[in-house]
Amino acid sequence: MLTIGCHLSASKGFENMAKEAVSINANTFQFFTRNPRGGKAKSISKKDVDKFLEIAKENNFGKILAHAPYTINPCSDDESIRDFARMTMKDDLERMELVPNNMYNLHPGSHKNQGAEKGIELTASILNDVLKKEQTTIVLLETMSGKGSEIGRNFSELKSIMDKVELSDRLGICLDTCHIYDGGYDIVNDVEGVIEEFDRIIGIKKLKAIHINDSKNRFNSHKDRHEKIGEGYIGLSAFEKIINHPMLKDLPFFLETPNELDGYAKEIALLRGIYKQ
Ligand code: FE
Ligand code: FE
Ligand code: ZN
Repeated sequence: MLTIGCHLSASKGFENMAKEAVSINANTFQFFTRNPRGGKAKSISKKDVDKFLEIAKENNFGKILAHAPYTINPCSDDESIRDFARMTMKDDLERMELVPNNMYNLHPGSHKNQGAEKGIELTASILNDVLKKEQTTIVLLETMSGKGSEIGRNFSELKSIMDKVELSDRLGICLDTCHIYDGGYDIVNDVEGVIEEFDRIIGIKKLKAIHINDSKNRFNSHKDRHEKIGEGYIGLSAFEKIINHPMLKDLPFFLETPNELDGYAKEIALLRGIYKQ
């Protein structure tokens, strides 16, 4: 069975996100751990989590994916910005243990003018500060499009971060189809080659989730503008290959396309329709 969901608003809690997911025939979902503008995260109630777990079990949910606020930058050149990222990630990971055995997605950050190597070092050092041996949450580094001074713009940079992290068994990768296409990985003409390269550089076992988004921009544009499935430069036939690829088909897929709930419902139906059991 295809495990697929979309990004949902976390403001109404876990039970309501699960209900919303079920209403659009999703069996997982993604949410922001807190308002991207910053500020304190809402407290998580045990009652809400228990109700969520019940719905998730009844509907065979896969792992859910928490997304760190995209405004934090663990490899900023400003120490106070790095401190804020460390504090946010630490707090988020503690909260995630109230919903154990799920995943937490992180943008590795922007090095500004320090160079990618320095950025990689700074982000790895924050991961070393916040990861705990006993945590059940897997932290996913997201593949980025390489806009501005983003690190994680190719598989080698992600591998370099992981290699510098002591508890790297607590790390995985979330592959964003829009980002890697914009970043110069040709999933339209050579999905097989891209997966082989991922396996060679990082190891396919480390791939834990896929952000499934079409792109508003051409190949290698380094732009990062998501488009609805089948309406961008990646196109439906590439997504058909991706969701059915033997090395990807059992992973959880998360839509981050420009949609409201009814648009997500349509995309989920479309993708379920072309998924081969
Ligand atoms: Fe993201
Ligand atoms: Fe993404
Ligand atoms: Zn994006």
